[in-house]
Amino acid sequence: MTLVGHPFPTVEACRAAAPRIASDWLKDHPALVRDALACTPAADLPALPVRQVADGVHVHLGPVAQFEDSPDGWIANLGFVIGPDSIAVIDAGASRAQGQALFAAIRRISDKPISHLVITHMHPDHAFGAEVFREAGAAILGHERLADALQGRGRTYLDNLTRLYGPGPMIGTRVVLPDKAVGGSLDIDLGGRVLSLTAAPPAHSDNDLTVLDRATGTLFAGDLVFRDLTPIVDGSLPGWLDWMAVPQDAGAIVPGHGPVAQNWDEAVSAQRDFLTALHRATREALDAGLPMSEGVPAIVDALAPLAGRWKSFPESVARDATAAFKELEWE
Ligand SMILES: [Zn+2]
Repeated sequence: MTLVGHPFPTVEACRAAAPRIASDWLKDHPALVRDALACTPAADLPALPVRQVADGVHVHLGPVAQFEDSPDGWIANLGFVIGPDSIAVIDAGASRAQGQALFAAIRRISDKPISHLVITHMHPDHAFGAEVFREAGAAILGHERLADALQGRGRTYLDNLTRLYGPGPMIGTRVVLPDKAVGGSLDIDLGGRVLSLTAAPPAHSDNDLTVLDRATGTLFAGDLVFRDLTPIVDGSLPGWLDWMAVPQDAGAIVPGHGPVAQNWDEAVSAQRDFLTALHRATREALDAGLPMSEGVPAIVDALAPLAGRWKSFPESVARDATAAFKELEWE
């Protein structure tokens, strides 16, 4: 574990305080025991690769893969914005380990305080590194429905990832709840640099939150935008189509997965085609009176021509067909 919330002027000062800090931390993490203890300059910690996509806006691009095709779940795009006084982090990664690696990446670039962590939605690849940033002093912000979603599903997500990757990659990872709930919109200030947070109606999930950096126009869309990785519907398919129908006034758009887009159309056009086709095929299956057992395979068949444009297509499209069938059945 890297205990990040304690900057020291010297390694000696760190060594003097480290045993007490470690004991205090372990009291709050009773499943873990101390083996060894070391003080390390932040610049020497293993860090995620990041790139600057606009002035003061840094992004880690995750590999385009689903959990099942990843060794550690480090699949989401993560980012941070450096203001005059402080730093805001957008999404924390899949585990404490990834949160620590993101923290180290930030510290290689800036030693300003980390004032905010914004979690774009409940999914573990975005949310599960959060405790690192709470320990670093950040306030955690999320959609007004995020806390309920994490309370309902967090334990299951954590168990599933631990089963998938083993306990090593997930060690020390805990589900933490936001300190502040955002309904509608909220501006946060990094010392004259303002980020505008906007809560979306149910779409990719029921707790999607976007972050717009007013200084550069960069929009962190979370999983409201998938590029190259097959979109997953876990909120509302019609709601997601509605969200995409209103272009955001943004410059670069950082999706939750896949490469940064330079404009709205580049960001959403392929996803719009996919979700529109999913909606149409689901309507047709329902209009034909098919039961779910026949409707889902029919929807999957109808979407097969799109497979070449998307990674992890077969697994994800079957999930999407099931979700869409269940949702539209009740329309
Ligand atoms: Zn997601």
